[in-house]
Parts: sequence; structure tokens; C-alpha cells
Amino acid sequence: MYLNPMRTLFALFLCLFLLNAQAQTTADRLPNVVILATGGTIAGTGATSTTTVGYTAATVGVDALIKAVPELQKVARVSGEQVFQIASENMGNEQWLVLAKRVNALLAKPEVDGIVITHGTDTLEETAYFLDLVVKSKKPVVLVGSMRPSTAMSADGPINLYNAVITAGSQDAVGKGVLVVLNDQINAARDVTKTNTVTTDTFKTPELGMLGYVIGGQPHFYRASLRKHTVDTEFDVTNLNALPQVDIAYSYANVGPVAVNALVAAGAKGIVHAGVGDGSLPAKVRPALSSAREKGVVIVRSSRVGQGIVARNGEANDDQLDFVVSDTLNPQKARILLMLALTRTTSTRDIQRMFGTY
Ligand code: ASP
Repeated sequence: MYLNPMRTLFALFLCLFLLNAQAQTTADRLPNVVILATGGTIAGTGATSTTTVGYTAATVGVDALIKAVPELQKVARVSGEQVFQIASENMGNEQWLVLAKRVNALLAKPEVDGIVITHGTDTLEETAYFLDLVVKSKKPVVLVGSMRPSTAMSADGPINLYNAVITAGSQDAVGKGVLVVLNDQINAARDVTKTNTVTTDTFKTPELGMLGYVIGGQPHFYRASLRKHTVDTEFDVTNLNALPQVDIAYSYANVGPVAVNALVAAGAKGIVHAGVGDGSLPAKVRPALSSAREKGVVIVRSSRVGQGIVARNGEANDDQLDFVVSDTLNPQKARILLMLALTRTTSTRDIQRMFGTY
């Protein structure tokens, strides 16, 4: 076959031009970020501009939240969905399953680059960790809230939302697991916790450290969590409509067995013990937990301290009691991992492995 050299050359240039143009558009286009709104103080309103306590959470809808920050349009193509409108103290397993399925469905769409979830701050760390374990995508998922209602002087919601959208649309956030962005800081879902009841710098990852900052309109990452998350977990919510009942029993000086016994009687499949110190078991609680274990309830020894590893076979003989230790997970996050673990197995050996993995 005869090939006209001029025509071949022209076709080649045309192909190169088109390929280049496409690469340019992909690189230059604004990322598509979906904002899933669930309520909280970021959507709250108070009577006056100085009302920073005693306001009503979860009153402003997602469209108004987006409209209040016109700067968002310069950094992303944003769309919003109102998934719930609740204060986060009312967040629960049922909502988590709905949210996780929606996140997975959206992230499966090629045109969606990232997701921001607006959320009350009280249980934000729990929702973040749940999603960190069940989202099946490397695309960024960022949880954001605020400590001051939208009507307050120096409300922190708008800048937090702006920073969250920037992070969710950033290639740098891909593969880092579920992130929490508030107060110009980026934290990992597994390790972050709320540390102050009212101030805007409440979200911290003491000791293990935050991942980075959002400054000058872009995220700056310095580290990543080594614990497995998202696409690398064994958990799958696709066919789950409920989660096993797991509760927390809190210990303190003078504690008795009442709470543990009541939880067992109420049908708990797992109990996280928020022990004192290194997860120590007070003498009156140990027999109640041990008898719960004999009835098949899985017991996880965690700690109310807030930092550090609960050492296996340290303050209790876990091998003998057939208990699991929580590693560095605080009680509320240990509860989440135990619930998900129980959707896969009841083997304490396997569950202990999961606490060392996630
Ligand atoms: N109670 C509120 C909530 O968690 C507090 C907040 O959002 O800061 O929904």
C-alpha cells in the first residue's frame, strides 16, 4: 500500500495535537467535588453574631452552605447533596451505612474526583474512621465541620469548607485515606480526635501527628498513616443493612459490674472496655467481662487515657481471658473496628490481627 508521506505526517501531527489538547484539559480543568451535607454546627444558626454556644445545629441546607462561599467556584466544580440534617450526637450505624454506600457510589463515577462531607464535630472522628475502613476508592474523602455556627462572628465554617474542597480536589490527597480538615490542618481519620469542647483548634492527633496543612489554597502533606485503609481493608458494606451491637463500658474509681452486665443482657455482641491507664481491669469489672466472654461476647480492652498502646498481656492476661487489645484506638474508634470485624468473624485471633492492621 502506498502511503503519502505528507498525509501521514499531517495525520501524525493531528493525533499528537489532539492527545496534547486532551491532556491539557484534564490537567487544567477544575476537579469535580461533591459535598455531602449531614448537618452539625457548620450548618448551625444562632440568635446573634456573638452566639457561639446555645445555637441550633443542622438548620442551613447544603445549597446555602455552598452559596455562602462563592470562592469554592474558583477551586472546584461543586455540587451538593443533603444526605441528613442532624446534629452529630445523633449519628449512628444506620446513617453510616447510608453515607458509606452513597460515597462508594459517587466515587465509582469517573467524573467525580473527590468528596467533602460536612458534619457535626462531636462524632466527626467516628464517621471519618468508619468511612476510612469501608470506602472502596483511593479518591479523596474529606470530613469537615466547624466549632462556630454559620451566623457567628469569625465563623470557622466557610474557611474550613473552602480548605476541605481544595483538599478533596487535590491529587496530593489521593490514596491517603479519609481525611479530616479543620483549622487549616489535615489529620488522618484513624488517629484524629476532638480534644476541646469549644475552641476552633479542637481536632488534633497528639503524639502521632497531623498529616499537613492547607495554606495558600493548597494542601501541604508531610506524612501519611501506615495503617491500612479504604481499598486495602477486608470490610465491605455493599450488602450490609445493620451492624452488630457493640457498646462501650467506661471504668473509673469505684466502678462496679453493672454496666457490663447490662450490656450483655441487652444483647451486645462485643464490648469495648474503656479501662483506666493501660486498659487496666478493676477487680469488680474483670469477672463480669470474663463471664461475658464465656457467653461469646468479644471483649476489647481499650483505654480512657487517650494516648498510647494498650499492651497485650500487660495489665491483664489477654491470652488466658481470650480478650483483644485495642492498640492505639480510643474506645469510640475501637467500637467501630470491632463492629466491622464482627461482620467478618468471631475469632478473637483474627480480630486481634485486625486491630494490628487498621
Ligand atoms: N453538637 C454539634 C454536632 O456535633 C457540635 C458541632 O458540630 O460542633 O453536631
